Amino acid sequence: MSAERPSTPPRQNAAGPGQLPRGPLTPEQKRKMELNRMKAKALREQHEAELAAKTRSAGTSPNTSQPTQGLKRSHASMTASNPPPSTVRDARTTALSSDRPLDEIKPARNFTRYVEYDFSKMTDTKGGFLTQEDDPFNKALHVPDDKEAQKPANMTQREWERQQLLQSLRRNREGPFEPGLSVLDDKSKQKTCRECGSLEIDWKWEEQLRCQICHSCKDKYPDKYSLLTKTEAREDYLLTDPELRDEELLPHLEKPNPHKSTWNSMMLYLRYQVEEYAFSDKKWGSSEALDAEFERRETDKKRRREAKFKTKLNDLKKRTRVEAYRRNRQGAAGGDFGDDLSTNRKHVHQWGRTVDNPETGIGVKTCVDCGMEVEELEF
Ligand SMILES: [Zn+2]
Ligand SMILES: [Zn+2]
Repeated sequence: MSAERPSTPPRQNAAGPGQLPRGPLTPEQKRKMELNRMKAKALREQHEAELAAKTRSAGTSPNTSQPTQGLKRSHASMTASNPPPSTVRDARTTALSSDRPLDEIKPARNFTRYVEYDFSKMTDTKGGFLTQEDDPFNKALHVPDDKEAQKPANMTQREWERQQLLQSLRRNREGPFEPGLSVLDDKSKQKTCRECGSLEIDWKWEEQLRCQICHSCKDKYPDKYSLLTKTEAREDYLLTDPELRDEELLPHLEKPNPHKSTWNSMMLYLRYQVEEYAFSDKKWGSSEALDAEFERRETDKKRRREAKFKTKLNDLKKRTRVEAYRRNRQGAAGGDFGDDLSTNRKHVHQWGRTVDNPETGIGVKTCVDCGMEVEELEF
């Protein structure tokens, strides 16, 4: 009745009867295995090098490159004699004729235990996208845009604002960029406001619009010195695009488009210059002549619209009349469905060949003249 003596279960022996269990490898065995592995690898590499050399020499002399009939060509001979076309882009290798393109990205021997391929050795062609080499400063993305001008990092906000102000003054020929005024200048050469004779003229207008005017006079005479857009000049004064593009004929200011900075910039014209030209003998002669021309064009447009409407109306009337005439010939009752109204004869269907409807399996025949369809049941 005593408790059984605790014992370990019998050892599971994987080896069959008569075989010794496989013990751990001795250092001597390990060394031998490693040696054999390296020998085999060296042999294989040597063999491959020989093969490659053979196919290369065969490729240079065509008579020996012909494979023997009925013999399978080796893979190396095929790849070596048929190099991929030059248009093939293979990012894995730079040498297209290499038999083993992946060799290019094999890691150093010591690292083969950890990584199979070293992708840092790979040439990344970016698959056709713009690379950093193509566009090192990414100009394609950051198209210069005045409105989005950014403060350089090395500038304080105050410095940046000052620079922007100076740039705008330079653009507008104001402040320090105004051409020098000197009382010593010859009076006749001095540029003065064409209204009040002041020397404080807008130099930008002087330069770009060839108009010497001071700022206060600009505001005082808006009927002369307001600015017209290109569209206004074209539609109100009936000027043409070539005339408006002619810088000699009509100078203009260019302003960035207020709606979208990437759109064409606005072209602004000085009202009195536009009127001077439009009312001159070179164009319409007078404001009355311009009005007359405007009137003439308007009536012309109206007449064309009316003429178009009349032709359409007549066309409609004619069609309705033909229809009414046909009906009248048939009498008030008209005709029965299927009657041929144009010949006043009873329509006789001309049945075409019977075609089986694939869905119902019933034959259908169609009249060649009126398109009527009839199902035909066979008994
Ligand atoms: Zn003035
Ligand atoms: Zn019919």
